[in-house]
Amino acid sequence: ATPTALLVGTGRGAQLGILIKGPEVLESTRRVDTIVLDKTGTVTTGTMTLVEAYATEGTTSEEVLRIAGAVENASEHPIARAIARGAQDRTGRLPAVDDFANLEGLGVRGTVQGRTVLVGRAPLLDEQGIVVPADVVAAQREAVAQGRTAVLVAWDGVARGVLSVADEIRPTSEQAIRQLVALGLTPVLLTGDNRTVAEQVAGQLGIDRVIAEVLPQDKVRVVEELQAEGRVVAMVGDGVNDAAALARADLGLAMGTGTDAAIEAADLTLVRGDLRAAADAIRLSRRTLGTIR
Ligand code: ADP
Ligand code: MG
Repeated sequence: ATPTALLVGTGRGAQLGILIKGPEVLESTRRVDTIVLDKTGTVTTGTMTLVEAYATEGTTSEEVLRIAGAVENASEHPIARAIARGAQDRTGRLPAVDDFANLEGLGVRGTVQGRTVLVGRAPLLDEQGIVVPADVVAAQREAVAQGRTAVLVAWDGVARGVLSVADEIRPTSEQAIRQLVALGLTPVLLTGDNRTVAEQVAGQLGIDRVIAEVLPQDKVRVVEELQAEGRVVAMVGDGVNDAAALARADLGLAMGTGTDAAIEAADLTLVRGDLRAAADAIRLSRRTLGTIR
């Protein structure tokens, strides 16, 4: 394509709410045949809400919430925001946290009122040799069966409760995926969240291929594996944990509602956080490059 055509294409993109890093990006956009979609914050809004707090014998749901909320208050993760907000609403002011640590893709750790607290998913607790009572396991399964993300709360070596958070699928996601499939792309859902929740979301959106329970540092490997299958891979993400995969993909797309790290790593930004703009970008690249060459 001529430089002028590419510039026109880029300008048209801006009108569609697609920010393109450079005119050459249109060429990789045109060749894409597989689109990997991060779940939380990309196909879902990422605005999670606390919906339930379960406490095992010997404690109360208020105490579980207060202690977990105190640690999560130091984290920016959407799950952490939901838990801190929910805890504050239900129990009032949260205690202070010391020695806070963010364990990316797993959860958080901190010291609250002399207790060593862990909040996160099961592998984090396993790794630390935490005892998980049967009723806590059952409460977690129940929450997951309802399509929620269940987070375990442990202190002093024992899991004491389960916090369930829910996230909504963006109203535009289903139509976007239908459009992408109609353009001949294979959608793949990629998430650090558990398999049951991921499959529920994928089912609602008509996505057949699901890769779940992936640690942030392994997202880039998933992109590489798809490329090794001979695919030309687009990746759409919003989080700091998506940045490496966005950079590695043949085409990286960031949600405009996402983090600066994701936007910087991507070739293209969907300004309004509307996934349908990904389909618009592909149509635009095909039109711009198809007609002129
Ligand atoms: P995604 O890939 O869907 O954007 P992440 O990789 O950020 O999700 O997180 C994966 C999983 O790790 C979450 O579903 C949650 O179970 C757990 N997790 C991550 N951060 C936290 C946190 N701050 N508090 C509790 N759980 C967390
Ligand atoms: Mg995300």
